[in-house]
Amino acid sequence: MSEILPSARDGVDGRPSQAWLDRYAQSVMPTYGVPQRFLVRGEGSYVWDADGRRYLDLLAGIATNALGHAHPTLTGAVSAQLATLGHVSNFFATGPQVALAERLLDLLDAPDGSRVFFANSGAEANEGAFKIARRTGRPRILALEGAFHGRTLGALALTHRPAYREPFEPLPGGAEHLPFGDVEALRAAMADDVAAVVLETIQGESGVRPLPEGYLAAAREVTSAHGALLVVDEVQSGIGRTGQWFAHTRHGVVPDVVTLAKGLGGGIPIAAVVAFGSAATLLGAGQHGTTFGGNPVASAAALATLHVIERDDLLANVRAVGARLRDGVLAAGAPLVTGVTGEGLWLGAQLARPVAARLAAAALSAGFIVNAVTPDVVRLAPPLILTTDQADSFVAALPALIQQSTSDEAVR
Ligand SMILES: *Cc1c(COP(=O)(O)O)cnc(C)c1O
Repeated sequence: MSEILPSARDGVDGRPSQAWLDRYAQSVMPTYGVPQRFLVRGEGSYVWDADGRRYLDLLAGIATNALGHAHPTLTGAVSAQLATLGHVSNFFATGPQVALAERLLDLLDAPDGSRVFFANSGAEANEGAFKIARRTGRPRILALEGAFHGRTLGALALTHRPAYREPFEPLPGGAEHLPFGDVEALRAAMADDVAAVVLETIQGESGVRPLPEGYLAAAREVTSAHGALLVVDEVQSGIGRTGQWFAHTRHGVVPDVVTLAKGLGGGIPIAAVVAFGSAATLLGAGQHGTTFGGNPVASAAALATLHVIERDDLLANVRAVGARLRDGVLAAGAPLVTGVTGEGLWLGAQLARPVAARLAAAALSAGFIVNAVTPDVVRLAPPLILTTDQADSFVAALPALIQQSTSDEAVR
């Protein structure tokens, strides 16, 4: 590596991280703001920064590193595939791609006729779903307030937050946002000109906010009644995050389209659009494509990720450690933490005051990566391999972190 990656100068005041961050600011577009740390290495649920400090990674690359960092099965599968056949384009088929499509159809218990389209990111998977919806010939597509479906223009049209949308208008037309969790509003908006209803079972980016019980089933009922598609965005919720392979299955609903990305490749970029039954016929030959889609290395990464989740019974680990983490955060975090939303290892600590950013900063200084997903919600989305001891170490630290992040509030 040292031959191709220049090392940082000796550092600013002996801190290599600062030298790297200075170079970042001079070379990388500032779309993400100032990076919190400069990371150089990871192993299991831990990462290290360029100054040698260790962090327990309770965010996992935003709900993505399902197997943590540098998992030997994943690195082995990726290395072996790259050394065998790395990329061929979709003019050709490869074993990893076909095996992964079959595996996803199987895990989703998809009916006959279902098919998979592979993409490279969550936004791109939702673009694919959007194009499937357009092919119904109907103009309207319904999404929810608080929704996050990605940043490309089609996905952005489905994303709700004005600050993300407004700088890029006009966006592709026909998207409407309905009040969150309001079945009556959905029934009122529904008509035979609706192509699709697009939903997250739990909205990750608006604070790990679950749809009310019954909403998903009601959405299935009204979309079926009007011949519209039900699209479930499982980009963040899928691949074991909730302690089930997919978040929607617990609700007893069979959708028409499911999109997957974040956790699917265990950190290697890959996404999938799974179209169920007749919905799989809407995109015809030549109507969609992407050069990297279903690339053998990315497909091998996804197969390895799914294999380890099954082999090591990580869904049971997610349920057990997740329940313990939830209870611990609720008990140790009171009274600032008023509730914990989410399922499995995907939790939103709801705060009584908008101090999430301060709490996340205090956590980082103490060696824990968490995410202030909204001003009053701290999101935890650790690797699915998180151990009880690791969860407990965060819970044990939490009272002091809360103390630090609230003590000088009055002064502010
Ligand atoms: C992250 C996310 C996306 C966008 O995925 P990218 O890979 O960042 O494009 C879409 N939908 C949901 C629910 C997400 O959490």
